[in-house]
Amino acid sequence: MAGTIMDKKEKLRVLQDDFRMDLPQRLAKIKRLLYVGKTGVDTDELYRLVHSLAGSAGTFGFHRLSDRAREIELQIQDAKGLDSESWLTSVMEQAIADMQLLASEGPDQVNPVIKEASFHVDLAEKRGESLVYLLEDDASQAEEIVAQLQHFGYVVETFNSVGELKAGMARKVPTALLVDVNLREGDIAGPKTVTDLRDSTMRNLPVIFISVNDTWQARLAVVRAGGEAYLCKPLNYSLLVEHLDNITGNKQETPYNILVVEDTILLAQHYAAVLEAAGMQVEIVSDPMQLLDVLPEFNPDLILMDIYMPGCTGVEASQIIRQHIAYCNLPIVYLSTESALERQLEALRVGGDDFLHKTISDEHLVEAIRIRAKRFRALAMLMNRDGLTGLFNHINLKLLLEREISQTLRRDSPLSFVMLDIDHFKLVNDQYGHPVGDQVIKSLARLLSQRLRSGDIAARYGGEEFAVILPDTPAEAAKTLIDGLRQEFAKVSYVHEDGEFTSTFSAGISTSPPHQEMESLIAAADGALYQAKHNGRNRVDLESNTD
Ligand code: GH3
Ligand code: MG
Ligand code: MG
Ligand code: MG
Repeated sequence: MAGTIMDKKEKLRVLQDDFRMDLPQRLAKIKRLLYVGKTGVDTDELYRLVHSLAGSAGTFGFHRLSDRAREIELQIQDAKGLDSESWLTSVMEQAIADMQLLASEGPDQVNPVIKEASFHVDLAEKRGESLVYLLEDDASQAEEIVAQLQHFGYVVETFNSVGELKAGMARKVPTALLVDVNLREGDIAGPKTVTDLRDSTMRNLPVIFISVNDTWQARLAVVRAGGEAYLCKPLNYSLLVEHLDNITGNKQETPYNILVVEDTILLAQHYAAVLEAAGMQVEIVSDPMQLLDVLPEFNPDLILMDIYMPGCTGVEASQIIRQHIAYCNLPIVYLSTESALERQLEALRVGGDDFLHKTISDEHLVEAIRIRAKRFRALAMLMNRDGLTGLFNHINLKLLLEREISQTLRRDSPLSFVMLDIDHFKLVNDQYGHPVGDQVIKSLARLLSQRLRSGDIAARYGGEEFAVILPDTPAEAAKTLIDGLRQEFAKVSYVHEDGEFTSTFSAGISTSPPHQEMESLIAAADGALYQAKHNGRNRVDLESNTD
């Protein structure tokens, strides 16, 4: 994802050059088709080549060439099946000459257009993801905020005066600003300062205010300063983290995975460059036969599918994908020069979700893909995730665990499974109320998703119990990892009406091998968790036979 806008423009330009260099060869190939073969012209192949040229020429900025190829494509289609070979040959000779001329004139759109706005990832990188500036003149309070937010992956830089903050902003713009309402300068100096600071660099910068006072006056000043939230001290850190997560979009960080199925490699590379420039991850499949191997590995959020490919059409490939229950909801968007409505509808009827025309602009392509991938993610989230925490739910945990165990056995590498349970949680609910209990659950979930590696899987097993799958992790390493989380979790503080408290969890770990079955792996982790509770709680135990 790294790279500047210029790098990406350059990449697209290089692809355009490659396309241009390749054009004479493509036209020669079309021409050869007219004269080889004693059995006559292979009109199907001829159609496919011209059709593919019509599509890719538009994408690379050769619009007039694309239009001409499109006309020829229709003529070939009309001639198909007719006994009119000599007519076709003469029409094609003229057509090829036209196309050669247009090709030699070069693209009518020299630089691929990309609006800088589509590079939101670059902007986010420039702003420094997860960097928070804190304006707070009470040193001990500042220290506590820094320590608490650090558990959740935020880097906090503290400033104790307005002047210092200004200097900091000039150096680097943070993702969010945290400002104390009461400063030495006055009761509502915080919001006043922010109002003054709201110049061009600050205009859209999210600001959260914190305050010891809960007065109408202070709240109004915060509203007028464009504050995102008003949090009273003592601070509820899980609430603060939730606000920050919303602001920084930390919850939906992972880029969309887009699988491009396209036999014309240059075209596929062009789509990949455009989508990658917009922050997506792209994998290319040029032979549809490889699809079923790539799907489970890459796990796409959407498939961009070419229609005309040798060997099998995109519509047929989509039908094969839909035969697999795991992919029956995966969005498939056809990208084709097909403009006959009837054939479009037929393609959609048998398993596609949408049709985009190959002459689509790059920005439009990005937007169309983003919207569909986003909707798919949101839907999958609702179906597979737990509502309170956003972690996988119980059912999905089991599906994923099954899958991971079989991969582990194949790869001959250990997998550890962890069951976690919050200690004396009933007491938390009884003493501080259910909503505060929910905050503790959310905060543990947040810590798990923040601190685990990307291949690890965290789930809410039920109530205040969680499960974690750690692929490629032997027992001892799992213990070290989870014990680190345990210590971290114990430091997070929660507020209630009369003060603050902390919470702990216990965990049990089992490992495969020796376990080969999911049930025995879960039972062993559960047994180890019971041991940990029995041994005094706030600890991590391995299953007894490997301990
Ligand atoms: P132990 O250390 O032995 O695990 O004690 P415990 O009190 O944590 O265990 P117990 O299983 O007796 O109590 C779990 C409590 O968790 C009971 C239940 O009301 C509460 N709980 C379950 N789901 C939720 C939830 O979603 N939100 C809140 N706030 N509480 C929940
Ligand atoms: Mg094709
Ligand atoms: Mg429990
Ligand atoms: Mg418990």
